[in-house]
Amino acid sequence: IIPTVAIIGRPNVGKSTLFNRLVGKKLALVDDRPGVTRDRREGEARIGHFNFRIVDTAGLEDADASSLAGRMRGQTELALSDADAVLFLVDARAGLTGADRQFAELVRRSGKPVVLVANKAEGGQGLSGAYEAFALGLGDPVPLSAEHGEGMGTLLEALLEAL
Ligand code: GDP
Ligand code: MG
Repeated sequence: IIPTVAIIGRPNVGKSTLFNRLVGKKLALVDDRPGVTRDRREGEARIGHFNFRIVDTAGLEDADASSLAGRMRGQTELALSDADAVLFLVDARAGLTGADRQFAELVRRSGKPVVLVANKAEGGQGLSGAYEAFALGLGDPVPLSAEHGEGMGTLLEALLEAL
């Protein structure tokens, strides 16, 4: 049985970019159940020789800021309850937002092992954002560039340690 890993984070931090990188061409099924699960995407992910199931909590991007808190909960909590571990993404360049803290609180309450990922950190950018992310209390941030594929080895190490 391979582990299930959920990618969690506020809109626009790069969750789907990471999902696509981890899944490659093997984009998997869409969950057809109605309601909060309809936009959830799952796939078979691989880093190096390590295989796992990955869940992208998509669809939250449609939520406007005022309704975000409510709408994000269902899908995120469902993904959390199914997950063996969580990749919690923040945007290392943008700095922490209230939404980051809200999602972080959901992750914390789930009690699931979490890897904190400071994305958009290609070329060593966003270091101050990564330091800031440390204050979330979710452990040491892993600097990553989902778009450019930097930091994947460190991500794997952290994930294996968390699982
Ligand atoms: P999601 O809303 O969390 O699923 O985020 P997306 O994957 O849709 O990405 C949001 C935006 O961030 C897109 O314009 C991506 O191209 C960009 N993005 C994602 N990952 C990176 C990264 O590692 N570096 C940079 N510079 N941009 C990124
Ligand atoms: Mg997305």
